[in-house]
Amino acid sequence: KDAYGAPVIGEHGKWLGIVVVMHDITELVKLEQVRKDFVANVSHELKTPVTSIKGFSETLLYGAYKNEETLLSFLEIIHKESNRLQVLINDLLDLSKVEQVGYEISLQKVRLSDILNRGLEMTTHLVEEKNMMIESIVDEEVYVLGDTNRLIQIMMNLLANAINYSPENTTVRVNIFKNQKYGIFQIRDEGIGICESEINRIFERFYRVDRARSRNSGGTGLGLAIVKHLVEAHHGLIEVESKVGEGTVFNVYIPIAKS
Ligand code: ADP
Repeated sequence: KDAYGAPVIGEHGKWLGIVVVMHDITELVKLEQVRKDFVANVSHELKTPVTSIKGFSETLLYGAYKNEETLLSFLEIIHKESNRLQVLINDLLDLSKVEQVGYEISLQKVRLSDILNRGLEMTTHLVEEKNMMIESIVDEEVYVLGDTNRLIQIMMNLLANAINYSPENTTVRVNIFKNQKYGIFQIRDEGIGICESEINRIFERFYRVDRARSRNSGGTGLGLAIVKHLVEAHHGLIEVESKVGEGTVFNVYIPIAKS
């Protein structure tokens, strides 16, 4: 029920008027729609690799295994699709964890340049595959209050996106600096960019500007949703600016640790 009315009777039974109470249900309806979309998205994302694994394994079982070349190429597909499922399930579990009301991380004094070094180590293979360059300008004295592994996860996700959504032979620039309140890391790429009408949506679960491209690069569409929650769990902020065809800049602000 979203509205009801009741008469207001004053002294001596005098009729004073009617009070109408209305609840705004648009917010609730919206939330319900978001939940439904999420379930539909999860189902779709799970279904695609499962269908492929099932199809290829059945074809093998029906006899295709006898041809060694087919056997090998089908097994490769099955392996790739099961990896995809695993990444997706891990991201879903992680997202549901960081989305919990009251999700907290333990905050310690962490040096941002150490986080960057770990993030760079973990993305070396991507950088090499695409012949990219990474340039960094780093203030070694920036210490923030954070959870080391979660900060590495934020850094890695943003670096991986900067690489994935850029053409080969381009440069990703990382800056680490600080202001009075925050340690800041900035990741700037020379990639495809994100148009104005989409930029506000990229932190939504499963939102991708180009689904096919994202899938091909191994993306689940959950990375930035997780990153946003993690930054918020650090009481930080994340900003993005972009120009189609020129590139994208992400700025992450994490509260500074007093020395
Ligand atoms: P995905 O797994 O698809 O990369 P994310 O949540 O990390 O998912 O990002 C959501 C979408 O935002 C991506 O699919 C892509 O369209 C866009 N995006 C993210 N980072 C960049 C970037 N550096 N340059 C251009 N587009 C980006």
